Amino acid sequence: MAAEGGAAPAPQSSSNPPSADPAWAHGTVVDMARRKVQCKYCNRVLSGSVWRLKQHLAGIKGEVAPCSRVSAEVRIQFCQYIKEKETSKANISRRRQEIREELSAPPRRSVDLSRERQTIDLDDDEEEQFRRASQVSRRSFAKRTISDVLVIT
Ligand SMILES: [Zn+2]
Repeated sequence: MAAEGGAAPAPQSSSNPPSADPAWAHGTVVDMARRKVQCKYCNRVLSGSVWRLKQHLAGIKGEVAPCSRVSAEVRIQFCQYIKEKETSKANISRRRQEIREELSAPPRRSVDLSRERQTIDLDDDEEEQFRRASQVSRRSFAKRTISDVLVIT
């Protein structure tokens, strides 16, 4: 009857983590509106939400200062996590490019549609089309005979 069901292992969620991100096990939300997260190990407050916290934990230099108190285990964990994220990002961009190429390359769908429309139009005024066709065939027949004659001579 109590809140503890034991189904979902929630180790230390005093401040509700906004997502099921592994980094929330190592930091707490200070100000969600301003995307401020506090590192559990060195108590440094990072702005830029959970991604900054991951960079901080992984010790990736550049955007954020690396954590000085995090264990090597956790640091490696987040190093790998960020690497995986980056490769998956690259995969996504490659996929997007493929999809773009797919979309731009075969305009078959539109061609098929226009063909369908044309056939529908043909069905609509079939008689007229037939009349025109017969006229054209007569003309082309005449042309053909002339050209045939020209070719022969
Ligand atoms: Zn830290």
